[in-house]
Amino acid sequence: MVDVIAELGDRLVRYCRIDTQSDPDSKTTPSTEKQYELLRLLERELTEMGAADVTLLPYGTLVATIPTTVETNAPTIAFCAHVDTTPQFIGRGVKPIIHRAWDGSDIVLPDNPTQVLSARELPYLASRIGHDIVTASGTTLLGADDKTGVAILMTMARHLLANPSLPHGTIRLCFTPDEEIGRGVHPELPKALGAAFAYTLDGGERGELVCETFSADLAKIEIEGVSIHPGWAKGKLVNALHLMARIIDILPQATDTPEVSDGRRGFWHVVSAGGSAARSRPAPTRTPARIPAWRGARARGSGGPPEDRPTIAAGPTAAGPWRAANTTASCPAC
Ligand SMILES: [Zn+2]
Repeated sequence: MVDVIAELGDRLVRYCRIDTQSDPDSKTTPSTEKQYELLRLLERELTEMGAADVTLLPYGTLVATIPTTVETNAPTIAFCAHVDTTPQFIGRGVKPIIHRAWDGSDIVLPDNPTQVLSARELPYLASRIGHDIVTASGTTLLGADDKTGVAILMTMARHLLANPSLPHGTIRLCFTPDEEIGRGVHPELPKALGAAFAYTLDGGERGELVCETFSADLAKIEIEGVSIHPGWAKGKLVNALHLMARIIDILPQATDTPEVSDGRRGFWHVVSAGGSAARSRPAPTRTPARIPAWRGARARGSGGPPEDRPTIAAGPTAAGPWRAANTTASCPAC
């Protein structure tokens, strides 16, 4: 008899080792070619386990069918997971580690011992003493989001296809790219999927069921300063880094960032910022800052009515001889 839990762990580790980071600056679909590495592996594995209609669609989405095992007219349901991982941290060279029957002591990640997972600081982790815990090695992301969903769906598919005595209607499987960069579902996918209901396995805590969507928008701010030698800069130099800091500082940090908000309250989340003061003219100084304006509904618990949502135009309120592009952030959900 197949050990389903062992299979799940094996699949998670194998899939996490494959670099599938998406790229928000890419114009292609999928945004990165490397997502095909996992999509094609899943295509082969689904074919080998006997799934029907295994199809890699032109927009980088893999679909397949687990045929019905009952005579009744059960609705077709679909299960989805995304294959990409976030571009915000290193995704190449992932070395997953399974900490078997974790005893609750600190988990020190071996490739960077300053990275320590502690039950004292992570209550959800603390509730999993005795479980197998999967982590990265300390220098990369793990990619559990959403390789966990992928591994669960693949294990479920293998189990159901190997056990046709288990009663179920037609099940469609769907593996999508570019979720982490907010590309959303391809407009043709619902038709290609052909399901009455669809569930995405991409959650947090075990047992959590989310029935609302999460909307977001992104602003990219680029600041052009005025560069001049600091020795004779008085009245002339405009430091792009100072301007960027002012923009970030006017965001509502006390009320509308991820760490101080919950439920349906929207938030602003500064993802990255960098650049330099200036080096020479006429070559411009450009200080890119990415400020996604997450303004949508996050379904945490029961939620409630949307609260006040202040609107912010991040760039143009700051004074000074600088140029800001794409500075107004908005979201249809607001
Ligand atoms: Zn995800």
